[in-house]
Amino acid sequence: MKIETIVFFSIDSLRADCIPGSSSTRNPSLRDLFTPTIHSLMQTACHFTNTYSSAVFTPPAHASLFTGDYQPNHRIREFYYHGETLSKRITTLAEFFKSKGYSTHAYTDMLHVFQATNLLRGFDHISDKDSSFFHDMTKWKRSKRFIFIHLLDVHTPYLFSPSNAFVDNSDYFRRIYSEIEKSDGRTGRSAIGIDDPYRLWNSYVQLPSIRSSRSSLFPLYKAGINKFDRGRFKIFLKNLHLHIAVENTVTFLFSDHGEGQASVRNPSFFRHGPHLSDDVLHIPLIISSPSFHKYINDKLLSICDIHHLAKRLINNPTQESINGYQNPNNFVYAESFECRKNAFFTTPNNAYLHEVRYRKKTDYYIYERQIRTPTQKLTLWFKPELFFSPHRRQRSLRASIQTLHQISSAYSASFNPLQKLFLIIVALCYAQWKKVWMKIFYQNLEPPIEFEIFNKQTHSIDEQNKIFIYLFRSILKLNRIKHQANDIASMLRY
Ligand SMILES: [Zn+2]
Repeated sequence: MKIETIVFFSIDSLRADCIPGSSSTRNPSLRDLFTPTIHSLMQTACHFTNTYSSAVFTPPAHASLFTGDYQPNHRIREFYYHGETLSKRITTLAEFFKSKGYSTHAYTDMLHVFQATNLLRGFDHISDKDSSFFHDMTKWKRSKRFIFIHLLDVHTPYLFSPSNAFVDNSDYFRRIYSEIEKSDGRTGRSAIGIDDPYRLWNSYVQLPSIRSSRSSLFPLYKAGINKFDRGRFKIFLKNLHLHIAVENTVTFLFSDHGEGQASVRNPSFFRHGPHLSDDVLHIPLIISSPSFHKYINDKLLSICDIHHLAKRLINNPTQESINGYQNPNNFVYAESFECRKNAFFTTPNNAYLHEVRYRKKTDYYIYERQIRTPTQKLTLWFKPELFFSPHRRQRSLRASIQTLHQISSAYSASFNPLQKLFLIIVALCYAQWKKVWMKIFYQNLEPPIEFEIFNKQTHSIDEQNKIFIYLFRSILKLNRIKHQANDIASMLRY
C-alpha cells in the first residue's frame, strides 16, 4: 500500500481495558462501555494488547512517544515546573517525518504544556482550537502528512469536553450538581456557586463522601469515554476523512497513560500518578488502516515502540511489517516524580513526605521506578538509595540485593504461608539492623513480594540513577536475566 497520511490519536488517560477486544469482555464493571467509533477502527487494525507507558504524567509519556527513548535520555522527567525541555540530541518523530517529505500538524488540548517543554519540535502547523483546525483542513491539498491529535475529553473532569465549539457540556454540569446533591444535600447551581468546570470538579472530588474514590469516580470516567467516542472523537474522524485519502491513511490510537490506582497507600484513590500501578501504565494501542485485517499482538511493548512502529511502517508500508513487531529490548522502563512544592498534584496520604528536608535544587525527586520484563516486574518505591551513607552504600546495596534474592527464591520454591511470613519478618529485621529504608516491590507477576527498608540521606538525581541502575542490574543478574541487565544499562546510559 501507499501511505499518504499517518494520524496519531493520543486519547489522554484512556485505560487499556476500555477499548473493545481487550478485557472488557472479562471485567463485568466495563460492560456498560459502548465505543462504536473505536470499535469500527478496530475492525481493520493490529491491536497491541500488552503496551505500557514510561510515565504516569502527560509530558514525559509524550516525550517517550516522540523520541522513542526513556526519560533519562529525553530529559523530560517530571511535569514542567523546572524548565525541562526536550533534549536537542534526539530527533523527534515530527522531525523524522519532515525529513521524509511529510508536512507535520499537531493539535493538542494542552498547548501550554507541550510548548513549555518543547514537545512540538518539528511540527509546522500547531493548533488548539477545533474550529480553526477543521478550517485549516479545508485548505489541504493532496500530499503526505503526519497529524498528531491529543484530546483531553477522557481526562478529568470526566464528562467535560475541552472542545470550544462542537460539544455540549451541559450534561457534565447536570451530572456533577446531581452527584453533589446526592452526597451532601446541596441543590442547584446557586447553592454550589461554581460555574468553572475545573473548580466544580475539584470541589466535587474533595467531598468527604467522595475523596476521589474509585467507586464514585469510575462510573463517571466510563460515562466520559462513552460521550467522547460518540461525540468529539467521531467529529474529528469525520472531518479528517473529508480531507484525506482514507485508503492511504494509517491511524494510530493510543493513550499517554491510563487511570486508576494513583496512590500506594490508598488503593481506592482514582486518578493517574504518582504511583506506577498497572491501571495507569497499561495503555491501549491500535494501528488501523482500511486495507488491514484484524490481528492481535500480545508481545510486551513500550510507549517508545509506537515511535519505532511508525518509522517501520514508512520504511515498509505493509501490515506484515508491524504484526510480529517485538520490543527489541524486551523490557519497559517507567518512573514517576513527586514534587515537594507541587501546586497541582497532592495525594491525600503524602504528609510524611513533607518531613523530609530537601535542598533547593532537589525539591523534586524520583518517586518510583520500574522495570517490566515479559514475566517480571520490579518497582522501587520512594528513595531507597538516599538512605545509604556514601562509604557504606555499595556494601549495603549488595547485602539488600542478596536478601531480596533469597526471598524471591523462597517464593519460587513454594514455601507454605507461615514459612513465607517468617522469611518476610527475617528480611524486615535484617533491614532494620542495616538501618536502611527502602521499599522494593518485586513481582514474578504473581505472587508479589514486598519488603521495606528505611533510610535518611539525600543524594543528587544523577547519583540516584546510578544506584538505581546498579540495583536493577544486580537483581536481574541474580535472577539470570543477564542480557536484559546489560540492555537496561545501555538503554538508560548510566
Ligand atoms: Zn496525560
